[in-house]
Amino acid sequence: MKGYAGKLLRVNLSNGKISKEEISDSMKRDFLGGRGFAVKLLWDEVRHADPLSEKNKLIFATGPLTGQSIPSSGKMVIASKSPLTGGYGDGNIGTMASVYLKKAGYDVVVVEGKSEKPCYLLIEDENVRIVEAFELWGKNTFEAQDLLEKKHGKNSGILLTGPAGENLIGFSTVMSQRGRAGGRPGMGAVMGSKRLKAIVIKGTGSIVNFDENKLQEMGKKGYAEIKGKSNYDFWMKQGTMQAFDWANENACLPTYNYREGVFELSKEMDGYVVEKLHAGRKGCPLCNMQCGHIIRDSSGQEAELDYENVGMLGPNIGLGNLPKVALLNRMADEWGLDTISLGSCIGFIMEASERGLIAEKIKWGDFEAAQKLIIEIGKGEGLGKLFSHGVKVAAETIGKGSQKWAMQVKGLEISAYNCHACPGMALAFGTSPIGAHHKEAWIIAWEIANDRFSYNKPKVEKLIEFQRIRGGFFESATVCRLPWVEVSFGVDWYPEYLEAITGERKSWEDIYRLGDRIYNLIRAFWIREVPSFGRKWDYPPDRWFEETQSGGKMKGIKVDREKYEQMLSWYYELRGWDQKGIPLKETLEGLGLRGVSQEMIGQVG
Ligand code: SF4
Repeated sequence: MKGYAGKLLRVNLSNGKISKEEISDSMKRDFLGGRGFAVKLLWDEVRHADPLSEKNKLIFATGPLTGQSIPSSGKMVIASKSPLTGGYGDGNIGTMASVYLKKAGYDVVVVEGKSEKPCYLLIEDENVRIVEAFELWGKNTFEAQDLLEKKHGKNSGILLTGPAGENLIGFSTVMSQRGRAGGRPGMGAVMGSKRLKAIVIKGTGSIVNFDENKLQEMGKKGYAEIKGKSNYDFWMKQGTMQAFDWANENACLPTYNYREGVFELSKEMDGYVVEKLHAGRKGCPLCNMQCGHIIRDSSGQEAELDYENVGMLGPNIGLGNLPKVALLNRMADEWGLDTISLGSCIGFIMEASERGLIAEKIKWGDFEAAQKLIIEIGKGEGLGKLFSHGVKVAAETIGKGSQKWAMQVKGLEISAYNCHACPGMALAFGTSPIGAHHKEAWIIAWEIANDRFSYNKPKVEKLIEFQRIRGGFFESATVCRLPWVEVSFGVDWYPEYLEAITGERKSWEDIYRLGDRIYNLIRAFWIREVPSFGRKWDYPPDRWFEETQSGGKMKGIKVDREKYEQMLSWYYELRGWDQKGIPLKETLEGLGLRGVSQEMIGQVG
């Protein structure tokens, strides 16, 4: 099939074996690329492995849309069995490494085993080598990127783990290009466990598409359509920070560890402050709506901001100063720590301190203490040791009811939306297949605009529609969802692009079916790998059911537990799962997952 490089590169770091395999057309048709390839490979090849052992595998996967001359297509998916959650984990990252990987002739890299010594993988078209990396080990992700660029040139795609990944911190990410991050559920720790500091990719080939002329023409039209959108100029000024004011006005800004949804210092740090402090913009390759906004942090260095990291390292820890938030964000990027999980851990620590559950006295908004905590967490030392596997494990250790306000689902910390008064988004977090993350179904904007307080079946249907498009299609294609989500770029472009690239037409029905196949396989992976997995894993924390915000326009409102149960039951029914959340045999077989259903005899509903 056209549009793919066609090969999977397999590297075993235990024995140094490097091999190249053809990717079959059936794999391309049934799983498309990116997340689809990743979950299929993990299902087939990783069984009951300790995530930080040599038995686990780390997948870097592009899709047919990756690296093409179409909007925002510089993405790849990084996936593995997660050391943070124990289940399926992945994340997308926009990086030149995705573009160069396909140019080098590979759609996917599978890293297996564990190197004895620190190393990096060097891919230069067909030449692939494992190189010793003693001089890189211990370096932060900015320093290591500089050293590798010096050695291999700036025209290299570089993926890195930071010191946090080397120290096996559960929410360490994979970083690239001084600020691009991906793989929230500990993909950086899996790299660290394999002693793989980096992957450096140089590719000079090109991808053969089915109809290159048509693709070029449609790509140009797509870029022009994005530029012509009515909110394009505003987006370019604020990027995802345009959501900050909106979230505060709608009482869903994560504030004081999600106790509140409105932050009294929001005007000190919203999108308009970003505009005033603007010092540049950064983003992923092939994107004409780059969303990384650069300001000078409180130490005078450049730092990149987006809504999620400002929400979590600002209001969620009670800090209302944007340059200080930018510095914390830069530190997280240097260490290779996920900013959402980090902000959640720091917010939890501040609340635990206020309640007297830990000995340390750390007040809300304490900037110096937050810096110290980032270093301790990155090293896994001091208080950081307790939080090196996230708030779920820390709360289980601390006990005393703190699990109720450990803001996570399935072990992954919740992204920057407070859901006391957004039941649909609470369900989106509850059912997200990697743990609580907004990338699967950002239903909150639709919910607030259309139907905020109801708990009905159409809302659940809408949630599944978002999951199919965002978590199924975009993550596998592999392309950024933000043109569609943020400036209303026509979603119908994508099947057109896919057809010009591969030569095969996929209807939306086919695309939804693909999304369902991927979601069901991810679900099956969780069930196989996590013995206690089931319905109880699909709930947000008790804080949203039992407490209410103390002020603002959503004061007094909380998620109704019984009604949440009803929505979750509808969700299972619509997905073709039983009421324990286990896929039915006919659901799996109807999606062409017969082998999966057979392997799971006794577990499938
Ligand atoms: S919109 Fe942002 S995340 Fe998406 S491709 Fe562009 S820069 Fe990357």
